[in-house]
Amino acid sequence: MIEDKNPQRTPVEQLGEFGLIDHITQNLEIGNESTLTGIGDDAAVIHHNEATVITTDMLVEGVHFDLSYVPLKHLGYKAVIVNLSDVYAMNAVAKQITVSIAISNRFPVEAVQELYEGVKLACKIYGVDLIGGDTTASTSGLIISITALGEQKKEDIAKRSGVQDGDLLVVSGDLGAAYMGLQILEREKAVFKENPQNQPDIEAYTYLIERQLKPEARKDIPELLRKLDVKPTAMIDLSDGLSSEIIHLCKSSEVGMTIYEEKIPLDPTVINACEEFNLDSTTIALSGGEDYELLFTISQNDYEKIKGNPNLTVIGHALPASSGMHLVTRGGEQVEIKALGWNSFNETGE
Ligand code: ADP
Ligand code: MG
Repeated sequence: MIEDKNPQRTPVEQLGEFGLIDHITQNLEIGNESTLTGIGDDAAVIHHNEATVITTDMLVEGVHFDLSYVPLKHLGYKAVIVNLSDVYAMNAVAKQITVSIAISNRFPVEAVQELYEGVKLACKIYGVDLIGGDTTASTSGLIISITALGEQKKEDIAKRSGVQDGDLLVVSGDLGAAYMGLQILEREKAVFKENPQNQPDIEAYTYLIERQLKPEARKDIPELLRKLDVKPTAMIDLSDGLSSEIIHLCKSSEVGMTIYEEKIPLDPTVINACEEFNLDSTTIALSGGEDYELLFTISQNDYEKIKGNPNLTVIGHALPASSGMHLVTRGGEQVEIKALGWNSFNETGE
């Protein structure tokens, strides 16, 4: 489905491990003051003035991505984004990453280069330095593991455990688009397998596919909150789906929550695609993952400060733990929020 734009195939053995590392890390610039030593020594050296936030995510071919429709550059980009999203979800500022890859001999130097183009682009856009990593062979497929480092004042770090009874639950952006993008890509892959002559018709789904293939991390949200002088009481990023992230917040904070179906922000293209695939858009927002939006709570006193901001939607509020976790449907029914089994809500009407 994706054409080989770069027909040149240099086997990695030709350059060797060191040659490959030199190749992919050439012209790297260090932009952050806190990066004292980057790539090229036994270890990188950083000096954060505030507390350091550190997070790692690993992506495995065949488990987390399918190279038949994910271009390598996009994969590199996304691998960085998913890590930065975790840093922003702590209300911190991302500063550095390390990137480790395991590659089978099916990947020529050019493929690794393409992967790194995506990594470097994300670094540039998000103002993050690539300061190290590791390179090794793999007997099957591609594995990419990234560690991201960020900083923030200790007292401003937003944990999952900080929700207070009565807090408002706020989400950035809109939900469900990345999952619907994946449905489109899977469908087009199946069509292409049947008939390789068939060119995919995906123009109407650009937003959905972009949200799947080129997700962005909400660096702007912690910045916006600082500007508005709003300190989130708790925060988490939406990598899985709204319902499982709500459960994480509630469990960590020992609270309950009620959210309102009519408040869940959906892009019109998500609603259209859901109709086409005969899926319920609320179910998709609750269970579809990879939106990388931020979900956080604020004190009710801060409501006026965020009110009307187009990036933020209040979707519910926190209650005592004994109230449990519920979605109030458009029809006014209360449905328990569960990590799985949302489909049954739609199909059986329970
Ligand atoms: P060592 O043997 O001391 O671990 P390596 O030869 O593995 O050193 O790495 C040399 C330098 O290149 C180090 O600074 C390391 O962090 C960096 N590096 C290695 N692999 C990668 C990679 N895939 N991406 C970015 N930097 C890398
Ligand atoms: Mg090493």
